[in-house]
Amino acid sequence: MTVNDSAVGEEDWRRATDLIRAAGTTALACHVSPDGDALGSMLGLGLALARAGKKVVASFGDRVFTVPRLLRFLPGQDLLVEPSAYPAEPDLMITFDASTMERLGLLAPHAGKARELVVIDHHVSNTRFGTVHLVDPSAASTTMVVERLIDRLGLRADRDVATCLYAGLVTDTGSFRHSITTPAAHAMAGRLLATGIHPEEIARELWDRSPFAYLRVLGTALGRATLEPDAAGGLGLVWTFVSRADRAAEGLPYDEVEGVIDVVRRVDEAEVAVVLKEDDEGGWNVSVRSKGAVDVARACAALGGGGHPRAAGFSSATSVADTMAALRPLLTDPPTSHWTSP
Ligand code: AMP
Ligand code: MN
Ligand code: MN
Repeated sequence: MTVNDSAVGEEDWRRATDLIRAAGTTALACHVSPDGDALGSMLGLGLALARAGKKVVASFGDRVFTVPRLLRFLPGQDLLVEPSAYPAEPDLMITFDASTMERLGLLAPHAGKARELVVIDHHVSNTRFGTVHLVDPSAASTTMVVERLIDRLGLRADRDVATCLYAGLVTDTGSFRHSITTPAAHAMAGRLLATGIHPEEIARELWDRSPFAYLRVLGTALGRATLEPDAAGGLGLVWTFVSRADRAAEGLPYDEVEGVIDVVRRVDEAEVAVVLKEDDEGGWNVSVRSKGAVDVARACAALGGGGHPRAAGFSSATSVADTMAALRPLLTDPPTSHWTSP
């Protein structure tokens, strides 16, 4: 037993493996603005299928289709096609790390028209929008569910597949630091390492490199960080923002600022940390983190986003001040026992 897959019914496992075995072309899609778990789970399964001789296409539904710089080291990128080249009505489509159909962005209509839609995810908030659901909220990452599926298909996780799966595992456990770091997560890491992957290279690609411009923009963002001790029900809030003007001044692409939240969230005086990031079109993507006493997934869901109890996000089309004014009063919900357990 590799993963506690009790959350997924035997019937769903059987239907998923039957559909994949019978499929001509399998169309894979992960959530927009993919992170290591989204892209890692999709390319990991994609590569395993391709190596077994299956036809695979993979994509994600961003308006501007580019793989974030820090994920370009992932093997299997040759499976990727632009959303415009994606099958309009796939016979079999599989989604990765997306809790709702909307998270598929431009590919949501394709999912709506797919004959069979296998949803692979680990968000407790997953809306079960497919025809088959491999959704396990006890899994630390979507790649953990994918590892189980590869195993049940009788396929092998070679070093490239393992690199993809490991990238998702370390992304979503925060390098085995978050509360979701279960014995099963470490056991999976052990199996993946045994294939000969290089954890130091993966970690360096994901977190330990950036252009010099990042230091300048990080400095600007940290210089304006605000601590509000009375916010979040008196537990404290720390927040800042990175505007597109900040990035333009240093020539820094949007996908380089994902790590700012990991500096901001370390503040002892704040239970909740928030970083607002403006994209090139002027929209704001908001990263929200808690230390466990406030359910930020529910707060973000109330603003049209979602995520996990301690790591969530949403998009906003209004100003920084208005976005914070909408978020602040929502940062008081303690997690229910159901939300804290996975
Ligand atoms: P991020 O702050 O972008 O790293 O996002 C943290 C987590 O929040 C992700 O893993 C997703 O589960 C979730 N999330 C972020 N943005 C959204 C969104 N717009 N809608 C739904 N979930 C989101
Ligand atoms: Mn994700
Ligand atoms: Mn995930």
